[in-house]
Amino acid sequence: MERIVELGPGVFALRYRFYDQQIGVVVGPDGVLVIDTRSTHAQAAELRADIARLTPLPVTIVVNTHGHYDHCFGNRPFRPAAIWGHVRCVAMLERTGERQRAEMRAEAPALAAELNEVVIDPPDHTFDDAVTIDLGDRPVELRYLGRGHTDNDIVVRLPDDGVLFAGDLLENGAPPYFGDGYPMDWPATVEALIRIAPDVVVPGHGDVADRPFVSAQLEDLRAVAALAGEVVAGTIEVEDAIGRALFGRARSREPIERALAQIRGELD
Ligand SMILES: [Zn+2]
Repeated sequence: MERIVELGPGVFALRYRFYDQQIGVVVGPDGVLVIDTRSTHAQAAELRADIARLTPLPVTIVVNTHGHYDHCFGNRPFRPAAIWGHVRCVAMLERTGERQRAEMRAEAPALAAELNEVVIDPPDHTFDDAVTIDLGDRPVELRYLGRGHTDNDIVVRLPDDGVLFAGDLLENGAPPYFGDGYPMDWPATVEALIRIAPDVVVPGHGDVADRPFVSAQLEDLRAVAALAGEVVAGTIEVEDAIGRALFGRARSREPIERALAQIRGELD
């Protein structure tokens, strides 16, 4: 673990160098809730050891913010914990889990052996729009706010603590990842997030942030959708849109092209 920040009584953000990832930990009176489980069983074992230094209590609840490998492939070692996620998180892991494993193996050959031993274990507790988990001393709200980074992103809100874990709907210090995204819907989803956001917002990757950060990222996301709209309206060329998006030319191609694909109806 790179760093740990205590955001409230028993509420922690654990920061890992691998992918600059943030893992949420909420310690209740009888058990621990963990938000996302990292990329492999070995990474999950490191996470479990880090949690064990915070509390002797067992992890009884896991929440997956969405169906990407770096948030779900560490699920299995946390069983028999209940694993919560959006209903389409399960579908995404079932449909794309093996492809995600293969792509990540190609991207990070040093992790191949760890990846091969992963047993993909999707959530067994699902919901469509909202559910509140009673941790014993506080409510933990899981909310689906619309499509964005994927079609199954959820946020985890702790109203008593003033903290919201945003998953990869928000990314701090690096451009958001659009490869499985819905760029035309993403701004409205973040607008909904802002409406329920407390002062402390934890992105899926990068520094713990605040509401002004969310507003700034919303502007970047709006710009992608607006530029794609201009391309479709015929007022600018695709390459101009890519050049004008805010993530730099190299990292703006995928967002713009994905937005155009969504407008053309190719993502449904
Ligand atoms: Zn993701």
